[in-house]
Amino acid sequence: MNTLFISDLHLEESRPDITGAFLGFLDKTAPGAERLYILGDFFEAWIGDDERTPLQEQIAAALRALSDSGTDIFLMHGNRDFLLGEDFCARVGATLLDDPTLIDLYGTPTLLMHGDSLCTADVEYQKFRANMRNPQTQKLILARPLKDRQQMARQLREMSMATNRGKAEDIMDVTPDEVVRVMEISDVPLMIHGHTHRPAEHDLTVNGKAAKRIVLGDWDQYVWWLNVEPGKKPELNKTPL
Ligand code: MN
Repeated sequence: MNTLFISDLHLEESRPDITGAFLGFLDKTAPGAERLYILGDFFEAWIGDDERTPLQEQIAAALRALSDSGTDIFLMHGNRDFLLGEDFCARVGATLLDDPTLIDLYGTPTLLMHGDSLCTADVEYQKFRANMRNPQTQKLILARPLKDRQQMARQLREMSMATNRGKAEDIMDVTPDEVVRVMEISDVPLMIHGHTHRPAEHDLTVNGKAAKRIVLGDWDQYVWWLNVEPGKKPELNKTPL
């Protein structure tokens, strides 16, 4: 019995190596897992469930095969694929999760997040995030023709690349106090998130008790996944991509 966590694959047409690595992961690592959690930025871009590119269809079919085989799949939005919707989830047999979501991980209360909301030092980004996560904004975006949305996604990506280049390293990481604040509210000994592309295990203190924050890795150079089994220490794994 085991549960797997991945995030930040940033699947896109220009990186067939990552698509291949993910299909390999579904073929070799995922079978038999009780649950698979994908904690955001699964796709590099998502402009609506109606787009249906060959890459999206290929990934959807592979996920469907895993869910049909008995693995429960859970998807959380990242800052890139926040428009991923219920249609796609229904198609692949996955459940869309709120950010954050509290789960019982074999007896350990665990808080799951994408991680971008923890980067509170990036005030400019948090404003953008609040706007983009507003259901009314999303409705307006999704009502626009596909062509407009594709154009908008390209512009957003160029803007984000240009602004992030000028940002200090610590601004792009989580704010330590925010991590503790969020964990103390839910009173959890474990948090799992992605987003920062800084895979690591951090020990910290939450409400006076020992706690841990596990950061998943992005699939650029390595395939990263977290494996959790009952009664065992969570294991962060990597293999060259
Ligand atoms: Mn992200």
